[in-house]
Amino acid sequence: MNLLRLAAFSIFLSLTSPCFSQLTSCIDKAVTTSLENVQYGVLDANAKWTNGSILTVRFLGGSSHIHQKIKEYARVWESFANIKFNFISYGNADIRIGFDPSGYWSYAGTHSKNIEQNKQTMNYEGFSESTPEIVLKRTILHEFGHALGLLHEHKSPISRIQWNKPKVYAHYMQLQGWSQQKVDEQVLNRYSVEMSNKEYDPSSIMHYPIDGSLTMDGYSVSWNTELSAGDKKLIGEMYPFYNTPPITSPGVTSSSAAASCQLNNVAITHNLLRNGKYGIGINGNYQIQNAQGKKCKFVAFFYNANGTPLKDFNQQYYSNNGNVVVGEEVTANYASTLFNTQLFIPYEELHLATGNHNLKVIISVFDDQVREIAQAGAAYFTYRNGPVISPIINIQSFDNFNIKVMPKFTIQNARLNQLSLVAHFYFENGTPVTYYDAYGRIQNLAISYNFIPGFDNTTYNYGYYSDLLLNVSYNFFPVLYRSTSYKYYTTIVKDGFQIGTSGWTSFILNR
Ligand SMILES: [Zn+2]
Repeated sequence: MNLLRLAAFSIFLSLTSPCFSQLTSCIDKAVTTSLENVQYGVLDANAKWTNGSILTVRFLGGSSHIHQKIKEYARVWESFANIKFNFISYGNADIRIGFDPSGYWSYAGTHSKNIEQNKQTMNYEGFSESTPEIVLKRTILHEFGHALGLLHEHKSPISRIQWNKPKVYAHYMQLQGWSQQKVDEQVLNRYSVEMSNKEYDPSSIMHYPIDGSLTMDGYSVSWNTELSAGDKKLIGEMYPFYNTPPITSPGVTSSSAAASCQLNNVAITHNLLRNGKYGIGINGNYQIQNAQGKKCKFVAFFYNANGTPLKDFNQQYYSNNGNVVVGEEVTANYASTLFNTQLFIPYEELHLATGNHNLKVIISVFDDQVREIAQAGAAYFTYRNGPVISPIINIQSFDNFNIKVMPKFTIQNARLNQLSLVAHFYFENGTPVTYYDAYGRIQNLAISYNFIPGFDNTTYNYGYYSDLLLNVSYNFFPVLYRSTSYKYYTTIVKDGFQIGTSGWTSFILNR
């Protein structure tokens, strides 16, 4: 048996291909067959409005009845977020609401700033007097969630929804006329880094209903019509209410007045390279008042998503109590002083083990009495330290010539990495199956195939079709008696290291 033949027996089917669309649209209402557009990859901190903002909202058409409903349900968010909506009739607005036939959709957060003023940033197709109250409610709550920067919960990388891909494709083809690629973009692909990384919340208003027939295990989610506890918690962390003295008008100062701060803008940049190290950049623009000659602090605190602070180990970026922080002390030279502070912390200073870490960073400004006088609100992000692979389960099938080995697994943080799938074959008693290579040497039978994950979070062989398949000829396996038992395991290899290994899988060949 020669090497060429061995290679020829490693045959593989379609691999997931990368697809990165900037504008992702998705279905909102299965009933009304609408289309929804959401900017991809948001809830990076840069889609979040400045905490404490008053967002202006203007209608581009629509009846007064619908206007009232939109105001009513939009304002539900105001109870949980330090954001106000100011509905205006004229002039430039942060959010413009249209009613054209393009479906139900909204841009996420500050991405609406990139849209021309004469175009809507949110749309409600066909809302009318006869639209049921429950549909108005859940749709308006959902779209305003987007407008505050929230994304689709069903695309959470934490969800592990096992979509039945052929059924999902067929479903959306029938309902929306969508191509497979479009369904991938809008339903199946999961969000990646720098998005909301609270726990997966199937009761979120940002989750679509899922019919049980569209998942492998019958998993289903019904229509959500209220803000969930998770929604309230997340939005409250993004836009926290905090106790701060009232902001003094510029020019009006008093020596007895408490210091105050207007935090105008915070931008968080991931994967920034500084002095040969990758890390997080934090840029803050803020105005401190009534603190002339006093030292104030601009500080970023790092936590696990569940709220426990990251611990420091080397006194490089740390607080008095041993947590990971990065900050800068500034002195207010004037009664009202404008600052622009840039911070940087290398990822290695977060002191995290290999794997996926759901984290949040909270940025605050403190006065000289260490009172918090402004807070930007939590920004969630995922830090992935090396590839992370789920348990590997081997699915196998048999045709006239081959055993087909289909490992089922999910791999994260390996997008565009060169990986190998390798299957190692043994007799049931543990003796390796062998063959003679091109040089006549005896070799243990290991069939491999190189592949490259296309996504930050790539799932193989969870659908009906094979994403990753090894065809292994029966010619490799001598059937010694009437029947012979074999076993194998599969492993995923990166740079010569096994990053994931399955358990044993057995099969029997009959003569
Ligand atoms: Zn949506």
